[in-house]
Amino acid sequence: MRPIERVAVVGGGTAGFLAALALKLKLPQLKVCLIRSPEIGIIGVGEGSTPPFTRFIHDFLGIPLQEFIRHTQPGLKTGTRFHWGPRSHFYFPFGLYMAMKVSDLPRAVGYYLDHGNIGHATPAAARMDANRVFGFNANKSLVIDADYAYHVENERFAGYLEARVRAAGVDIIEGNIESAQQDENGITGLQLADTRQIAAEIYIDCSGFRSLLLGKTLGEPRVDYSSTLACDRAVVGGWARPLGVPMLSYTLSDTMDAGWCWRIDHPDRINRGYVYSSAFISDDAAEQELRLKNPGIGPTRIVKFTSGRFERSWVKNVVAIGNASGFVEPLEATSLAIIASRCQLMVELLQDSGCTLRPAMGALFNQNSAAIWDAVRDFLSLHYRFNTRLSTPFWVNRQNETNMGNAQPLVDYVQQMGPSPALTAAFVAIGAVFNASGYLAILTGLRMPTRYCYQPTALELTIWQNWCRSNLHQVQSLSTVEQALSILGAGRQI
Ligand SMILES: Cc1cc2nc3c(=O)[nH]c(=O)nc-3n(C[C@H](O)[C@H](O)[C@H](O)COP(=O)(O)OP(=O)(O)OC[C@H]3O[C@@H](n4cnc5c(N)ncnc54)[C@H](O)[C@@H]3O)c2cc1C
Repeated sequence: MRPIERVAVVGGGTAGFLAALALKLKLPQLKVCLIRSPEIGIIGVGEGSTPPFTRFIHDFLGIPLQEFIRHTQPGLKTGTRFHWGPRSHFYFPFGLYMAMKVSDLPRAVGYYLDHGNIGHATPAAARMDANRVFGFNANKSLVIDADYAYHVENERFAGYLEARVRAAGVDIIEGNIESAQQDENGITGLQLADTRQIAAEIYIDCSGFRSLLLGKTLGEPRVDYSSTLACDRAVVGGWARPLGVPMLSYTLSDTMDAGWCWRIDHPDRINRGYVYSSAFISDDAAEQELRLKNPGIGPTRIVKFTSGRFERSWVKNVVAIGNASGFVEPLEATSLAIIASRCQLMVELLQDSGCTLRPAMGALFNQNSAAIWDAVRDFLSLHYRFNTRLSTPFWVNRQNETNMGNAQPLVDYVQQMGPSPALTAAFVAIGAVFNASGYLAILTGLRMPTRYCYQPTALELTIWQNWCRSNLHQVQSLSTVEQALSILGAGRQI
């Protein structure tokens, strides 16, 4: 088997640029080209992220923090605040949360949550509740020792990645791919509309929802997630952030009549997106509801999608990454982290094989990809199944009909045992993106009914209340998002 020398990346959205960059930085001997269609453009949505994505950008790709912030002008994210379920709100913070144990208390945090302010339960929750981010050193620099992620506008991010990819030596080709030739070993060449032809030994399909090579050319079957995730559209818009309005350090998620709505803060904008099911609300009515609840919103547009994945992402000499390989609606902002993990795994497999393609690489990649997509689907199912905030036809349908897939035994466990972090044992096998703490944050946040009731002693309650007070006290000295970005080099007053 001869090592591959030429790679063709199809697509210049975030998935295509991240794949090309990872390949060229880690395997510089490869000749990498990226083909993108200026007519089709990029999806233009996808702003929220999670800590694994932050680690990929800075630790794996080696992009310096300050450079990233200067060029992409992101917001900072410490978790998601949900306006879902019977509570006024609840948090899903990054960092230690429901599995945390406090010294001198016999149970983990979740068992005490309803005996105080839910926003003071751990340092990570208190950080969100206070709308703060990082601590300060004595010299006023930041202590970046806690998990965090970014709110980064899709087009600005892709623009920055493009410059990085060019600098790394990737050849960017503007053109519309009209067809792809194939034989029994996979794709043999790409035919552009203007008669140019491109050939490589491996093709990375990052063509977005079109899935040009994996779906359209190779005909890989799809696994449909609609029995779990019924939303299929989003109406998106935003407005210029008024001066003096504090930036939120988290994504806000509101329950809506036929779905939910994100609020994502950037230094210069506040963006909103209502994710809904077209079976329960028309496009016009969804737009009206969004506008009514956000009177300042400017022009809006509608994005259509379906939740699901392809059975395999690596078929013959095609590796699909990003929306071309699968998509779950953006409720937990998982796509960028999945793109990151796919790029890293692909590169590591090529490094270890000396750039020769062996069947075991695709088999491992596919098994892992399917497990990750399905784990995200299962995790999202809890949000719909147990959100009792509204009784609109959409929500009554979701409370009764949401297929919880592999999450059902974990939900049964929590119903019998309460918020027990021993749930962690269930996650070892499936290598999930979300762990016990995440499950417990959502189930407890939504007040899923359980048969279990734990009554702490008076002494435990005193220890708990002191702990909550100390969390509240500690976060007062942390930076705001604006302070953190100014120090980290946003390069302008925010
Ligand atoms: C409503 C919504 C909200 C989302 N929110 C989030 C979020 O908060 N967080 C998150 O992580 N993700 C989110 N996502 C997912 C997000 O879209 C992806 O994370 C990310 O943008 C990856 O897109 P992509 O690169 O796969 O596709 P695209 O951006 O669509 O890029 C596809 C590329 O392929 C090219 N192409 C296609 N066909 C051809 C052809 N024939 N010839 C040449 N080039 C071609 C296009 O020109 C383009 O360059 C959201 C998605 C939706 C729909």
